[in-house]
Amino acid sequence: MTQSFPTPAAHARDLLDKLGVPTPPAEAGQPVRGPIDGEVLAHVLHDDARMIEAKVSAACRAFLAWRIVPAPRRGELVRLFGEELRAAKAELAALVTLEAGKIASEAAGEVQEMIDICDFAVGLSRQLHGLTIASERPGHAMRETWHPLGPVAVISAFNFPVAVWAWNACLALVCGDPVIWKPSEKTPLTALATHAILRRALARFGDAPEGLACVVQGGRDAGERLTRDPRIPLVSATGSTRMGRAVAPLVAERFGRSILELGGNNAMIVTPSADLSLALRAIVFSAAGTAGQRCTSLRRLIVHESLVDTLADAVETAFQRLPVGDPRAPETLLGPLIDKAAHDAFVEAMNAVRAEGGTVSGGERLLADERPDAYYVRPALARLPTPAPCMQSETFAPLLHVVPYTSFDTALSIQNDVPQGLSSCVMTNDVREAETFLSAAGSDCGIANVNIGPSGAEIGGAFGGEKETGGGRESGSDSWKQYMRRQTATVNYSGALPLAQGVRFDL
Ligand code: NAD
Repeated sequence: MTQSFPTPAAHARDLLDKLGVPTPPAEAGQPVRGPIDGEVLAHVLHDDARMIEAKVSAACRAFLAWRIVPAPRRGELVRLFGEELRAAKAELAALVTLEAGKIASEAAGEVQEMIDICDFAVGLSRQLHGLTIASERPGHAMRETWHPLGPVAVISAFNFPVAVWAWNACLALVCGDPVIWKPSEKTPLTALATHAILRRALARFGDAPEGLACVVQGGRDAGERLTRDPRIPLVSATGSTRMGRAVAPLVAERFGRSILELGGNNAMIVTPSADLSLALRAIVFSAAGTAGQRCTSLRRLIVHESLVDTLADAVETAFQRLPVGDPRAPETLLGPLIDKAAHDAFVEAMNAVRAEGGTVSGGERLLADERPDAYYVRPALARLPTPAPCMQSETFAPLLHVVPYTSFDTALSIQNDVPQGLSSCVMTNDVREAETFLSAAGSDCGIANVNIGPSGAEIGGAFGGEKETGGGRESGSDSWKQYMRRQTATVNYSGALPLAQGVRFDL
């Protein structure tokens, strides 16, 4: 590590001051550890049952007022929030780096994503269009209208500590819904900072109801409390498939709605016609970027047998050369894993590869002498002769499995033969392969790309995946409809009362 930085704790204090976030004294709160050196960054207060109850009640009251504010006026709040985010982008991004370990450009990209979704939502606030539908009855008109739904709970993961909330919150707010945010217990500070920024927008907006947006701090129990609450019609939960399995039945039991954005196990197919230099860059960014801690990170590389050794050698060399270190340093491309548990899972996954007949290069722990409580690693490449059980699960770390294929059909079945269905891609210059990959008989994932890697989605499209990824869609396209309730209305402006389908019921 060439450059010297303030300790993460001192740096966090400075940023929290600049962002206007008060933190409680150590004895009053829970410690928040940062991944850069594993030390405590600050303390936060966790909400107990009584505090959560008060926040949910306030959100319910806020709903009654917010739902009747015209949608374009609601959009004005999000427009102001976007302005405040632009002003605070550098500080919020720096805090994301401290708390989640992302390199500076990725952290800035995450805040940019929040700004982008603000812009999207402001436009949307004038486009919450319904339909007019032809009625079969004379003198009748039918229409479909979208109404606000109610308080939305957003449960978020550590690895996109602020953007995922913004994808949900910006849409929910223009749709007329209050937002209750339960951030990851690993990244509570960025949530408090985001809320401080939102509060500035609320102050400028002037007359938004109290309780329109809040943060509930805590772990699984706090999330579960929101999940069970029948006053919350929509729970948008991002995290592991294990978490989704717990959340989904609880919400379904009370006939609530959920948006589930869960684990991925994303693949790339590289065919003989691929541009290999493009493929190499896409592979290294999507497998090793964010230290492999994106839901869309590349985990499985399926390469034509004629290329597999050459490409795997090139990936191995690139992995060896990647600068690993303090994510604040401009030359760093790979920051730390979030914590020891993530490192333990990484080691266990590499052992599973070896036990199943594969070989692993890389994967060493780095900088352990300088930073004994932080977990920096060299990305690992696992070569397997054929698909193996170890490729079926997601390890949230930079571990890339590579296997050869012989026919394109086999490559597609290897790709689809996992329980998850988030993101996928093919590197090819053959139009038949590209179109087959995107066809009904191709990739079974929510995201399918041609000649780009599986990670790094834009906000304009609906984001999410199939199978154990949970089936939810967030962000762009028509995802907004999930935050509203649909009403079909028929108006009779005739003097008669004809029944549909010609039914007669004469009194
Ligand atoms: P996690 O499942 O450990 O925690 C996610 C959130 O769920 C946290 O806020 C946690 O407190 C809460 N939670 C955990 N158990 C809960 C329960 N029983 N009830 C209610 N809330 C509960 O996930 P993580 O380690 O923070 O994040 C990594 C995982 O998230 C990976 O699997 C990754 O693929 C996934 N992820 C998915 C997406 C997506 O859009 N598909 C995006 C980001 C992360």
